[in-house]
Amino acid sequence: MKVLLVEDEKKIADFVCAGFKEQGFVVEHCADGTEGFARASTGSYDVIVLDIMLPGRDGLSILKGLRKAGNATPVILLTARNELDDRVEGLSLGADDYLAKPFFVEELIARVQALLRRVSGERQNILAVGELRLDRISREVTWHGQTVDLTGREFNLIEYLMRSPGRVFTRTQILEHVWGYDFDPSTNVVDVCIQRIRKKIASLGVAADGESPIEAVRGVGYRFRKLTEAS
Ligand code: CA
Repeated sequence: MKVLLVEDEKKIADFVCAGFKEQGFVVEHCADGTEGFARASTGSYDVIVLDIMLPGRDGLSILKGLRKAGNATPVILLTARNELDDRVEGLSLGADDYLAKPFFVEELIARVQALLRRVSGERQNILAVGELRLDRISREVTWHGQTVDLTGREFNLIEYLMRSPGRVFTRTQILEHVWGYDFDPSTNVVDVCIQRIRKKIASLGVAADGESPIEAVRGVGYRFRKLTEAS
């Protein structure tokens, strides 16, 4: 886990860095808001601990800039004791949590860990393999960023295959999981449904080489391509 700490007070920075390191985090520190924003914008941190009053660029402006650019890295703000307005503004700008100074580093670490657990719980609702992305909550599927308009059945089928990329599923397995009851094994509903999905994906015209995320395995069934490895 990699933490970015943007804090200009050396004493606070020192004990926060020491505390995180002790808990096995990798921590990078910078004391200036402009540099802090540049580093935070790389998107290479799991969490950002952000002071509000900073030289260069203040914490709220950094937060605003990150969210505006689509950077969703979790942010915990460090606020002065009575800066209620800052906290309210920070949360409305997309901060995930805040901690008022003075604080114990143990509390900051506990907050960071809670935040990371929350975020990873949310992330499990998103399945992403290569350029195919599926949201289990909104039931939206995108391919190279374009929405694929799927029926409920098609969605369930692609989700089932996508949970185990590279694994081959037989038509019978797919029938049982997606249709949920026994079909005549000679039925071709699986093939028909997969053809429809592939057509919908192909009709978006976003993959120049005509690549499809679902692959037929002759005589066996279908699998979701391990797109990241294939490309
Ligand atoms: Ca400060």
